[in-house]
Parts: sequence; C-alpha cells; structure tokens
Amino acid sequence: MNQFSLPDKPHQYQNFINGTYKTSISNKTFERESPGHGVTVGKYPLSTKEDTEEAITAAKVAFKSEKWSSLTGADREIIIRKAAGIIRARKKELALIETLESGKPISQALDEMEWAAGIWDYAATLARHIAGDVNTNVGSDMTAMMQKVPIGVVGMITPWNFPLLIISQKLPIALAAGCTAVIKPSEMTPGTTLLLGEILKEAGLPNGVVNIVAGYGDPVGVTLTESLDVDMISFTGSTEVGKQIVKSASVNLKKVELELGGKNPQIIFPDADIDALIDAIVFGVYFNMGECCNSGSRIIVHEDIAEEIENRVIEHSKDVKVGDPLDPSVKIGAIINKNQYDKIINCINSGIAQGAELKLGKDSGIDDNGFYISPTIFTKVQPHMDIAKEEIFGPVLSILTFKTAEEAIEIANNTPYGLSAGVWTKDLDTAMLMTRKIEAGTVWVNNWMSGYPEIPFGGMKQSGLGRELGPHSIDEYMETKSVLIKMGAKPGNWVKG
Ligand code: NAD
Repeated sequence: MNQFSLPDKPHQYQNFINGTYKTSISNKTFERESPGHGVTVGKYPLSTKEDTEEAITAAKVAFKSEKWSSLTGADREIIIRKAAGIIRARKKELALIETLESGKPISQALDEMEWAAGIWDYAATLARHIAGDVNTNVGSDMTAMMQKVPIGVVGMITPWNFPLLIISQKLPIALAAGCTAVIKPSEMTPGTTLLLGEILKEAGLPNGVVNIVAGYGDPVGVTLTESLDVDMISFTGSTEVGKQIVKSASVNLKKVELELGGKNPQIIFPDADIDALIDAIVFGVYFNMGECCNSGSRIIVHEDIAEEIENRVIEHSKDVKVGDPLDPSVKIGAIINKNQYDKIINCINSGIAQGAELKLGKDSGIDDNGFYISPTIFTKVQPHMDIAKEEIFGPVLSILTFKTAEEAIEIANNTPYGLSAGVWTKDLDTAMLMTRKIEAGTVWVNNWMSGYPEIPFGGMKQSGLGRELGPHSIDEYMETKSVLIKMGAKPGNWVKG
C-alpha cells in the first residue's frame, strides 16, 4: 500500500520569529492547493512588512549579541550536524509536504531530503575550518592578519522548485560562518522551510538566529531586500526578480548572491557513447517536470547522428510515467500551477508557430490533463527560435544540430544564461576544448546533473552572481578584516618627511 496520501485537512503553519511560532500581525492566512489533486494542503500566515521587520530585528539582535558567532566552530558544527540528523529522521514527512505543495514525484522528494541533509552535514564541517590568514612578509616590524568575520544578517529568498534543498544550499553554510538569517520561502511551497524552525530549535540553535516569514515577494521579499538592517541577500529564483533585487539592495549596498535561471545545452559529438547518453538526456529534461534551473532543455547534436539520437530519445521518453505525484513509480508529476502550465503551453505553441517540428507531446497523440504535461520534444529547432533560447521550465526538449565544433559552441553560448552545460564525447581534446569555450558555471562531461556539497555551483552571465556549495561557499557569508600590527613601533614624522 502507498504510505503517502492526501491529508485529511490542510496543515496549519506559522512564522518562526525569535524562536517562537506565531501568526502574522495581519491575522490573515493564504492557502496552497496540491497542483496534482486540487486539494488544499497548507495554510500559512499572510505576512506583512511589520512581520518581516520583526524578524529582521530578531536576527539583528541575535547577531549583535554574538550568542551564535562567539560559539566555537566545533559547537556550531554540533548543532548544524544535529539538524542534518533531524531532517533525515523526518524525511518522509518533509518529502510528502513538498510533493503535495509542488507536485513533484514522491520518490524524487525523498531523495531530495537526503541530499539536503547531506549539505547540512557538509556545512557542519566548514564551521571548523574558518581560520583567516597571516602575512609576515610585509616588513620585519609588521604582522598582518586577515580575520574572517561573519557578514551579519542574511536575507534568504527561495523559489518553489526545490524548497528544502535550495534553502539547504544557503542556510547551514551561513550558520557555519556565524551569521543570522531571515528566510522567505516561496509562497507556493513554504511548508518544509517553516518546519526548519522546530528542527533547528530541537537541534539547539539559539533563539533569533534563524527567523522564517511566509508570504509574497511584495511585501516580505521587498522588505528584506530594502532593509538597512540586512547585510546580505542570498536569492535563488528567476533572472527577472534577481535584477529587481540588485536594484533594491543598492539602498545600503548590501551584498547580493544570486542563483538564477538557465537554458542549458548538451553538445553531442558523433563519437559519444550513445547508449549512455539517451537516459541522461531524458532524465535531464524531465527531472522535476523540467521545472529545474539545470534542466538539460537544449540538445545540440552533430548532424551525422542526429536522426538516431532523436529517434532513441523519443522512444525512451514515451516510457516516462506521468501522473499522480504520490505514486512512487511516477517520474513526471504535476506542473506547479495554472500560470506555469499556461506558460509552458504557450512556449510549445510558439515552437510550432516558429516552424520547429513537434515530435512528441501536445497535439501528437498524448493527452494533457489539468496541470500535467507529458514529455514534449521538438526537432528542427533553429538557434533564433524562442524555444532554443528561453527558459521554458517545463518538460520540453529542443533538439538542434551542428556541423562543426565552432558552430556547436556558438549555438550553446547564444543565450543570456550561463548556468550549466554538457558535452558528450570520448575524445579528450574535444572535451577539454568544449569545457574551455562554453560559458557556464558547471560543465558536465559524459554525464548530466551530478552534484556534490563539496563542488561549487552557480552561474555565469545572467544565471547568477557568486557560488553556493564547495569549500569557499562559506566565504560568501564572511567579510575579510585586515589587521596590521606594528612591532616595536617607532615614532614617525609624516609632516616633516
Ligand atoms: P521567482 O523569481 O518568481 O521567485 C523566487 C522568490 O522571490 C519567491 O520567494 C518570490 O516570492 C520572491 N520574490 C518575487 N518578487 C520579489 C521581489 N520583488 N523582491 C524580493 N523577492 C521577490 O522564481 P520562482 O518562479 O519561484 O522559481 C523559478 C526560477 O528560479 C527559475 O527561473 C529558475 O531557473 C530559478 N532557479 C534557479 C536556481 C539556481 O540555483 N540557479 C535553482 C532553482 C530555481
């Protein structure tokens, strides 16, 4: 029997401010319907500017008190690692919430909870590796210290597609650095982020260090980005909102770290291992219904093997099971909401209108139903077409062809984005040339979407600013303070020279 089912009644959530769960000052709530079932699954506080300001004040007071940053790295490690354990212990509950709110398949949500917990474990180790540096090479009477100090209050704003996973790419690392935080999850998927409050309390985090406020971009996100008391914004979401955030963050020149959209190419050379890449392409484009910044939504294949690749990808895509996200065997669940569903359908229609050939999906024999969209594949896509350049955020694959490596690079880079890319070839020279020329923060060679907490992730061009994960991610949340100490100080005379 499937142990995952719809709730009898919606889960009631509250904001988490200064260690306490509370309703919004407005006393109003908003609701979320499961996009796969049309059933209300959660009720959340409709937070106001005042709620957000209260959370910012709590984070600021906690930061100034140094109750978190003055702990030893070893003590911060213990608490962050405990949180990892609690996430793991509660993973079924957390995964179910995410599936109900987002429509993602339950089997995938379970994997994501493990992945998230793994990042908390990794971040715990970073807490013990903050050491700064010393320079004794600037004169025999001078010692310079480069101290690492936490940046302060970090506002974290997250999207709906991987709620707990994305906050886990930010929060534990900021905590390892000694920062405090105010978090605004997406209004579509706030559940698991709000539960982080009780998880962190149980792990032993002091009150006020992490505060979580549910609500809309305006006012909650805007209040965070415009606040003079927030020292940094770490944002994951659309490039469009990222640009707005940069503008409002200029009010106090707060640091901004951005993880934005992508239109990620995979270039396939004739010598590639075709058996290995077919499943990777299908996984890359339909994972999370294609609602993934890393979606491998553009295949750029050498014309000599294009027909074989197209036919095999189409055949394999027909076996991808679409349906109820609570069914453990489903691979494509529901699209997040009607707006996104309409946006994807419009993109598909624009592909048809601009002359690409629809080989699988809408209008080619597979029914679309409610917020469900089945695997959709276009061939004969030209680089100028919208479906070749714009992020669709749905299960839609565009296949383009190339003759020379130079042409492949030109097509791959013909987009404002630069998040990730893939190269399929057995030839080392070709692979290395491609990794140098492709404009992307991550390049996968003969695989797609591998990722580890140890390896940095982020985008070039309009896909982002800064990097998450990896050993240097902690530096994003720290300032370097240079301290210069003169030994045996002799009086100088600047006036007389
Ligand atoms: P979005 O930009 O619409 O919203 C993201 C968050 O910003 C939400 O919490 C939203 O409420 C908030 N927000 C909206 N307007 C705001 C404003 N003016 N000021 C402050 N906050 C505001 O993005 P989305 O639709 O939730 O997510 C999809 C997008 O996220 C896609 O473009 C995807 O590529 C991107 N994404 C990127 C990564 C990455 O790591 N690069 C990962 C996941 C998603």
